[in-house]
Amino acid sequence: MNQSAVPDVSPATLEVVPLGGVGEFGMNMMAVSWEDTTILIDAGVMFPDPDQLGVDLIIPDMTYVEARGDKVKALVLTHGHEDHIGAVPHVMPLFDGPVYGTAMTLAFIEPKLEEHGIEAKDRLKTVKPRDVVSIGPFTIEFIRVTHSMPDCVALAITTPAGVMIHTGDFKIDQTPIDGQHFDLHRFAELGAKGVLALFADSTNIDRRGFTGPEIEVIDAFEELFTSTQGKLVVAMFSSSIYRMQVLVDLAAQFDRKVAFVGRSIVQNAEIAQRLGYLRIPSGIQIRDADVQNYASQDVLCVTTGSQGEPQAALPRIAVDDHRWVKLGPDDTVVLSARAIPGNEKKIARVMSHVARRGADVVTDSMKHVHVSGHGSAEELKLVLSLVRPRYFVPVHGEYRQLSQHARVAKRVMSGVEPRLQVLLAENGDIIQFDVDGGRIAGKAPVGRILIDDTRTGEVGDEVLRDRRHLAEDGLVVPVVAINKQTGLLEGVPDIVTRGFVMENSQALLADAARLLTDVVEQASLEERTDQGLIKEKLRVELRRFFRKRSGRRPFVVPVIMEI
Ligand SMILES: [Zn+2]
Ligand SMILES: [Zn+2]
Repeated sequence: MNQSAVPDVSPATLEVVPLGGVGEFGMNMMAVSWEDTTILIDAGVMFPDPDQLGVDLIIPDMTYVEARGDKVKALVLTHGHEDHIGAVPHVMPLFDGPVYGTAMTLAFIEPKLEEHGIEAKDRLKTVKPRDVVSIGPFTIEFIRVTHSMPDCVALAITTPAGVMIHTGDFKIDQTPIDGQHFDLHRFAELGAKGVLALFADSTNIDRRGFTGPEIEVIDAFEELFTSTQGKLVVAMFSSSIYRMQVLVDLAAQFDRKVAFVGRSIVQNAEIAQRLGYLRIPSGIQIRDADVQNYASQDVLCVTTGSQGEPQAALPRIAVDDHRWVKLGPDDTVVLSARAIPGNEKKIARVMSHVARRGADVVTDSMKHVHVSGHGSAEELKLVLSLVRPRYFVPVHGEYRQLSQHARVAKRVMSGVEPRLQVLLAENGDIIQFDVDGGRIAGKAPVGRILIDDTRTGEVGDEVLRDRRHLAEDGLVVPVVAINKQTGLLEGVPDIVTRGFVMENSQALLADAARLLTDVVEQASLEERTDQGLIKEKLRVELRRFFRKRSGRRPFVVPVIMEI
């Protein structure tokens, strides 16, 4: 992945290189260079597939950023979603300059820096929409857009080659929850003056019409508040601050207490409240530990786990393994999020577990309990019509979305800017603009780095990382036989190791086998018969065990045999 050399930036040329997120969903990042100045736009993560064992996060390969060295002057952020800020702690050590973002965006970054032990809060520079900052030959203006969370901006970057606009993620919500409107006027003004290139979100180009405002979900939730006899448990992305506000307001209206359940959602609700983006009337919020002290019809739980993540709150609640929140037959569980492709099976299993508790399950295919944060075709067309760029580069999507966005752009622009050229780029393509026009010219090194968060700072590309991990710490394969009918252990778990030898390894492995037995026996029947859940539990427990007992972190790959 790292073999190809990083080419020099050509003189008197604007060079834009997408390092992630163009031709794939997630880990959005882009480098914009003019001679000796490079700025980075966003630094996001992608979440691993379930079969990428031992991987917690995926970030873009940083070879290009490292090669630019001290020419990298700043990181500029569009908004606080993980696919735009998750890699910030990994990027900040690679350069010295400031990190620009709105208050909400930077507030979401602060705890990440703390987790990574990065003391650099003085590098975080808060900006507001319509603020302008200068970095070398670039002047960057922040323009408000609407999305599924507050305080999102697009960027208008004035360069020696012309103005480039990067939309960030957006939809056009004309009745935003916080009253902060999409700055259509500024897009129009810039378009009237002339825009060299537009880089626009392509996520929902294949959806007809308009996406719809965040307030659209209120009706469906009103019905649920009215009809639910017991607890209402709503799972969502922990960054969906607007959705939280809708639910808090309804809870106030229908006399329910609100408990945020799950570490990230508690943290984000606190941040949003502190910044004034989430308003919770006094006396409404309760702690998760207090849920059991209230009659179930008086409680709303807002939880994580909408993607079926085994360690998150809802999947634990669903198998009756949550300390404070239990489900009963009168309760309703709402999945207020879309399923990220690849997570469908995990989510379906969680819903089945919820159903076994006797609770009702409501998804967005049954009621309108979720609305996307990304604009559909008509919104994307509107932005094109306003901006009227000479060059159009679709971003934030897989290749099929990018190419569809390209087709739509040509149709929209045929009457407005017939000279429009679409540059259908993918990660690593070097997009150049100079006096002769714009083109894709060459390729920069790109790729993915898999991060295992238990090994802080340990970074390498996939193969290298696995090899190093295996070479240093070895491989441990616990083989556990579980009776499919009874969910009981069949015999003593076996542990196969490779490259993991220690003086007392016999005793250690015997203890590990006992730990496996305990973990399985203490798990509920549902966990024991759910391969995904029990594997994750065994993996986490064994990793902890080996770290404590041997100071090593072997690669743990549980194998469950159903008998
Ligand atoms: Zn976003
Ligand atoms: Zn995004």
